Amino acid sequence: MKILIVGNGGREHALAWTLRKDFRVKKIYIAPGNGGTVFLRDIVQNIPISVNDIKGLVAFARQEHVDYVVVGPEFPLENGIVNAFRASNISIIGPTKEAAKLETSKAFAKSVMTAAKIPTACYKTFTNGFKAKDYVRSIKEFPIVIKASGIAAGKGVVIAYSLEDTEKALKEMFEEKIFGNAGNEVIIEEFMRGEEASVFALTDGIHYKLLSVAQDHKRIGEQDMGKNTGGMGAYAPTSIVNTNVLEQTKKSIIEPLLEEMTRRGTPFTGILYIGLMIENQIPKVVEFNARLGDPETQVVLPLLETSLNSIFESMITSQIEGTNVLLSNNSAATVVLASSGYPDQYEIGHNIVSLNDASIWERYSEIKNDVLVFHSGTKVERNRLLTSGGRVLSVTGISESLKKSLSLVYNKIKDVSFTNVYFRKDIGYRELGRTGI
Ligand code: ATP
Repeated sequence: MKILIVGNGGREHALAWTLRKDFRVKKIYIAPGNGGTVFLRDIVQNIPISVNDIKGLVAFARQEHVDYVVVGPEFPLENGIVNAFRASNISIIGPTKEAAKLETSKAFAKSVMTAAKIPTACYKTFTNGFKAKDYVRSIKEFPIVIKASGIAAGKGVVIAYSLEDTEKALKEMFEEKIFGNAGNEVIIEEFMRGEEASVFALTDGIHYKLLSVAQDHKRIGEQDMGKNTGGMGAYAPTSIVNTNVLEQTKKSIIEPLLEEMTRRGTPFTGILYIGLMIENQIPKVVEFNARLGDPETQVVLPLLETSLNSIFESMITSQIEGTNVLLSNNSAATVVLASSGYPDQYEIGHNIVSLNDASIWERYSEIKNDVLVFHSGTKVERNRLLTSGGRVLSVTGISESLKKSLSLVYNKIKDVSFTNVYFRKDIGYRELGRTGI
């Protein structure tokens, strides 16, 4: 079988690594891939086509007769990559642009949740800055949450602790247009207390199966302080989502959501991320994404025991209901190694010395290994592996407990460092505080 993966992050590296475990998979193309996927060179090949060049991707997939395509990032989904591939009769894992609006328009996601009676924060949407300002002056309790409706790379959400903060955020979104068109519509919503968790459902539009539930660390600083980032680390599973919380998530969130999307004639197919806020064992939705998260993928896929390739095939043929999805009892943790300065200004082009030796990389990527190094912002130039982005590597450890997985990770980090590396040393602290193991 031949598969095309679209994307260039740690998530896509982990997808390639996982799909490659199925002996029926003979070739994996990644467009454009990264420095790490270059090293998976046995059956994996980087293809220099941008994730935004949908026509180019369709032409390539047709020419190479790929069996199906997997989409990593959100922008091609928003731009209709799934619609384009389906129109060309090529199978693809992902939602159409209409269904991807669950991620690309927070106002749309809220309206679907209201229609399907899915628990989420109370909200109001505004397209007019003056009306929004009038409304916030009537608010008595802070904090409240101000969100640009479109995609803003994790930066479009402001938690406002006073009227002054709120007015500033509205001015930036409506008048200064700091998020461009993503801020044309703004949501003002209730602040939810509790702890967050990430649930991933693999769905053919009607039925679904879940991956291990993860928690991620979005903030740059220890103790979850400082600026929001794409994600600095993650682990799975998490005891905060026990059987009771998981059952509620299925019955009061996932099932009504899939039904509502089908009822609207835009069934959601692909991988649905449900960002939960859990307080007193009650889950509410913070947001939906239309794809796998990064770095959560780097922990949930290594815990998958069933072939991901078989699961994707069953999603394409609408047979996910009958597919047994086995999850490991192990625990996985990943820590992101970033370039110092991220998420603001940072340097690139530093040598990642220890990973330049392909034999070392091969050791890390061995399937049976309990430590894996997934690449994000890396590139190979004149046979040297260099940093090329803010988030550079994510190091994943797998063992019978979170504590052991983390110690595997932090030990390995000593080997794979690079100039100006920054990483958090407290990944998993909440779960360790709860369970001690
Ligand atoms: P973007 O669209 O800019 O990429 P995003 O999709 O990451 O951002 P959200 O996930 O909706 O945006 O919000 C980001 C973070 O803000 C959440 O992970 C959560 O920590 C916090 N947050 C969002 N909404 C609420 C809320 N109603 N109550 C409390 N915290 C919230």
